[in-house]
Amino acid sequence: MIAATSHANQLNSQHDPIAFASAARKGSEEPGWQQLLADAVSDPRELCALLELDPALVLPALTAARDFALRVPRSYVARMRKGDPHDPLLLQVLPVAAETAVVDGFVTDPVGDMDRRAAQGLLHKYRGRALLVATGACAVHCRYCFRRHFPYAEESALQQGWLGAIEHLRADPTIGEVILSGGDPWSLSDRRLKQLTDALEAIPHIRRLRVHTRYPIVLPERIDSGLLEWLHGVRLQKVVVMHANHAREIDPSVRQACAQLSAAGVTLLNQSVLLKGVNDSVDALAELSEALFETHVLPYYLHVLDKVRGAAHFDLPESRALQLHRELTARLPGYLVPKLVREVAGAPAKTAVVGPIEVSLE
Ligand SMILES: *Cc1c(COP(=O)(O)O)cnc(C)c1O
Ligand code: SF4
Repeated sequence: MIAATSHANQLNSQHDPIAFASAARKGSEEPGWQQLLADAVSDPRELCALLELDPALVLPALTAARDFALRVPRSYVARMRKGDPHDPLLLQVLPVAAETAVVDGFVTDPVGDMDRRAAQGLLHKYRGRALLVATGACAVHCRYCFRRHFPYAEESALQQGWLGAIEHLRADPTIGEVILSGGDPWSLSDRRLKQLTDALEAIPHIRRLRVHTRYPIVLPERIDSGLLEWLHGVRLQKVVVMHANHAREIDPSVRQACAQLSAAGVTLLNQSVLLKGVNDSVDALAELSEALFETHVLPYYLHVLDKVRGAAHFDLPESRALQLHRELTARLPGYLVPKLVREVAGAPAKTAVVGPIEVSLE
């Protein structure tokens, strides 16, 4: 999407291109995360070639990518199986023809974000918590994302240097937790993040900082010494809600990043989206919970899909979501069962998805 791309360009241009090129020439150092981000795969032809996929996938991918660009870091691509068009990681990022179909009930702002603006880039929907749209840039473009049509260019708090958002937070003593979201807040430089948390720490009623990010999963190299230094310095209580949808996303590099976050005093949670073809089996969901726990991450939410235009092919009937969740509950200890939730425009919290109450006497 246009906004995300322009943000990504801003990120890259923060670097001196000459210093960049000479570092690349030397080739002696590990590339930094910003360079890895700039080097993400964005051409469907390249993705299909790297994964030895049927070239017939390229043309529909190019068409669908016009609405919402392909973007996937190479280390995430490396976790995909070659020659498998049904790979659960690939399905999350490959643009497909089905995205261009218009399906009844699938709209551009399914969660009603545009009705809940409290200040530039600040969404104050839930009691005690305010969500700051810190940036529109993401390390990866997830095809099912409910923000794929979000007008980031106007709505990122960064545009105003945070001022309106910070003023709103300061003026409302009921807000104890600030959630950084986006886009992906860890697309911001460490310097920007520190500016922001310095401002938040100066507001006495703010006790907690939460970060919603896919970086630990899709570009774990982001969890580098600079980011950890920033985190170690933040005095607020820290929660990171990462976003893995499948156990195969969690490899040793992800485990290492999570261990470093834990060591920096962060409580780690995970949210997933239930996606047809990706994780819609009780085995896949159970393996994900187990893999998360081995990484010291607790499953928090399992979202049913937000009905965003272009994502209808990931949708499952709610009865199927409930059935999967019941089977998961029967199989795993309670702390490994994420809450099944749905985003309802205007609701005072995430809404639990519950079926009819069934009492079995057998
Ligand atoms: C999901 C969400 C939150 C956080 O909800 P929790 O139930 O606390 O995880 C806050 N603000 C917005 C706008 C959200 O979408
Ligand atoms: S799901 Fe998160 S990381 Fe993926 S495109 Fe949406 S905001 Fe970005």
